[in-house]
Amino acid sequence: MEQRLRQLAEEALNALKGANTPDELNVIRVKYLGKKGEVTQVLRGMGALPAEERPRIGQIANEVRQQIEAALEARNQAVKEAQKAKQLAAETLDITLPGYRFDLGKLHPLTKVLQEMESIFMGLGFSIAEGPEIELDYYNFEALNLPKDHPARDMQDTFFINPEVLLRTHTSSVQVRTMEKTVPQVPVKVICPGRVYRRDDDATHSPMFHQVEGLVIDKHITFADLKGVLATFARQMFGPSTRTRLRPSYFPFTEPSAEVDISCVMCKGKGCRVCKGSGWLEILGSGMVHPRVLEMSGYNPEEVTGFAFGMGVERIAMLKYGIDDLRLLFDNDLRFLAQF
Ligand SMILES: [Zn+2]
Repeated sequence: MEQRLRQLAEEALNALKGANTPDELNVIRVKYLGKKGEVTQVLRGMGALPAEERPRIGQIANEVRQQIEAALEARNQAVKEAQKAKQLAAETLDITLPGYRFDLGKLHPLTKVLQEMESIFMGLGFSIAEGPEIELDYYNFEALNLPKDHPARDMQDTFFINPEVLLRTHTSSVQVRTMEKTVPQVPVKVICPGRVYRRDDDATHSPMFHQVEGLVIDKHITFADLKGVLATFARQMFGPSTRTRLRPSYFPFTEPSAEVDISCVMCKGKGCRVCKGSGWLEILGSGMVHPRVLEMSGYNPEEVTGFAFGMGVERIAMLKYGIDDLRLLFDNDLRFLAQF
């Protein structure tokens, strides 16, 4: 019996040398160590041995079993490693292949123009003020010298929520809020960027658009300060050769008031389709803050003066980039947006 066990061990070890896959190894495991395996069979037959022989044969049988198990495990490792090496060799990456191109995100043209405008005015010493888009009639109209029966209210087609609450039609409401917070201190020197709402919808008007308004209040502020700030802005926004001109105008919250034109960005003043032959493009409204507006916010118009201005971000973007339909800015068409 001892001889039979040794022989089985030798057979098993020889068989293992030729096994190259996990399946082949398993067949060998079952053949020798399984429930009906050869070694198991021999152990079953131990009952027929004389009692004094059993411990010695039992020990040999265990040794043989352990020997085969150890050899199986060693061979199993070797087979696994060989398989892994083969897989790695087959899957080699070709790092010389070109990679995939990813599209980079970009800022919306309105965001870019707005950031540029903010940066120009911050360079001139302005800070940024913000306020609510759903606004009280008081801040949007009344405190700006536009009482409820004022005919100039018709200039701004307004979305009313109720008689006292509306969607702000300009960011001048933020100027009033800023004056209320700052009074009686001077200077006030802010720009108010943000969304505004009016009942308009065509190639040059949208029911929602963006404004940047500015307000300066201090002692000895004159019309020359207004002109200097706006001419500087125009040159920085549209190029150093940009000229500006002021035309008399009317706004209820400024006196005197002026529209500001710049020399046409397309023809440089010679006259073209964009400027309708005039050589000038209107970009903003402005004026000296009306004494009544200063008073309503608590300032003494005998002591301080100020100027204010307001412009549409869409209008500036359209002129800067030569866009002829404002609605393109809100259509979210990537073919259009990717150009900026
Ligand atoms: Zn022109």
